[in-house]
Amino acid sequence: MTTQYQAAVAGKITREMEVVAKRENLTPEAIRVEVAAGRMVIPANHVHAAGRLEPMAIGIAARCKINANIGNSAVTSNVGEELEKLHVAVHYGADTVMDLSTGKDIDNIRREIIASSPVPIGTVPIYQMLEELGGNIEDMRPQHFLDMVEHQAKQGVDYMTIHCGLLLEHLHLTTSRVTGIVSRGGSLIAKWMMAHRKQNPLYESFDDLCDIMKCYDVTWSLGDGLRPGSIADASDAAQFAELDVLGKLCKRSWERGTQVMVEGPGHIPMDQIDMNIKKQIEVCHGAPFYVLGPLVTDIAPGYDHITSAIGAALAGWSGAAMLCYVTPKEHLGLPNREDVKQGVIAYKIAAHSADLARKRPGCQERDDALSRARFAFDWKEQFRLSIDPETAQAYHDETLPQDTFKSAHFCSMCGPKYCSMRITEDIRKMANDQSLPTSSATPHDKSAAEKKLVELKS
Ligand code: SF4
Repeated sequence: MTTQYQAAVAGKITREMEVVAKRENLTPEAIRVEVAAGRMVIPANHVHAAGRLEPMAIGIAARCKINANIGNSAVTSNVGEELEKLHVAVHYGADTVMDLSTGKDIDNIRREIIASSPVPIGTVPIYQMLEELGGNIEDMRPQHFLDMVEHQAKQGVDYMTIHCGLLLEHLHLTTSRVTGIVSRGGSLIAKWMMAHRKQNPLYESFDDLCDIMKCYDVTWSLGDGLRPGSIADASDAAQFAELDVLGKLCKRSWERGTQVMVEGPGHIPMDQIDMNIKKQIEVCHGAPFYVLGPLVTDIAPGYDHITSAIGAALAGWSGAAMLCYVTPKEHLGLPNREDVKQGVIAYKIAAHSADLARKRPGCQERDDALSRARFAFDWKEQFRLSIDPETAQAYHDETLPQDTFKSAHFCSMCGPKYCSMRITEDIRKMANDQSLPTSSATPHDKSAAEKKLVELKS
């Protein structure tokens, strides 16, 4: 079986490309061209594609996507809770889900998640590796890791984060950082390299890893093990040294027939986000960029779904293809069901805002429909079109719960006398009745308005 990339390069349109074309409002040929150019990936492991997976695409020509991380930890959660988080994430619009389980029962949790999930599932194989080694990453041998990747590929994992770009010679660049190495995978590989005084075994095994991923069409998600974990460390030498390696690995992954996307930071102030995205796209030859946030300030633990959604919206606008959500629990604890919901909604807003700014096909239709419903005081339609209908209705009904208020021409925010949309209705009625004085200086006739202003001034 071929990968989506191999098929695209051979000029073949796959069933997955056809499905994606419908979902993206693009032609199948446009999808094929993007996949062949490496600017788009369709994460669809053959095993998962034969099950419940509904194919989707990640790339600059497609709608901006969002990922939700779930998974247990050694301290809390189980398969039932993780399946519930999967359900919440998909219900509120997550385009992919990563199972980042690091606690008990990892294999069973992953099996259940893949069997239940219509969206692609990503993993970070080194987490399960560490569990199997009893927490001693130094004991890992390269073959251990290859076996783990093959094991997860056989289960149907659609994309994998593997930290191949962090090299031994990069480590000294992190010593003066405020927050060091904040990527879990990055810190484990750094520890292994320090213990053995040898090069990153995942970098050394890159071609062998490609061969495994090609067999199942697992998409690379090249991990950013040296991403900045604080505003002070943003855009530093360590981050960009790793990015240069990732750019070279993109080319090698295409040469070996695999699909690839690249992960990015982290914590970045707003004025550096556009530069970061453009640099990644250039260095990685257009491979889709998958960013975590980025968080635009460090001072809001408990609200990092907001600090990061601000950065994510800017990143999406600049060309990031997928935004990895952050929940309110970031830096503080394992997200629960409600945190997953809050994170997904914050990121749906960020991704949709980016789609609007990039003028992606058909994207504004829902905004326009909701605005029309709002102006027509069609409250039920306004709720239905909302990103979170239950919350929108609950907030409205908190003060005006009776059914009669579902057609009222005001809400409790301004009340009937001050409702500006109701007043606008009155103004329009007056204009229709021709009881409104007319003038050549209508709001749409700027030149006439300007002329009037000049007249008044003279
Ligand atoms: S009362 Fe105010 S907030 Fe409510 S519908 Fe009218 S203008 Fe909008």
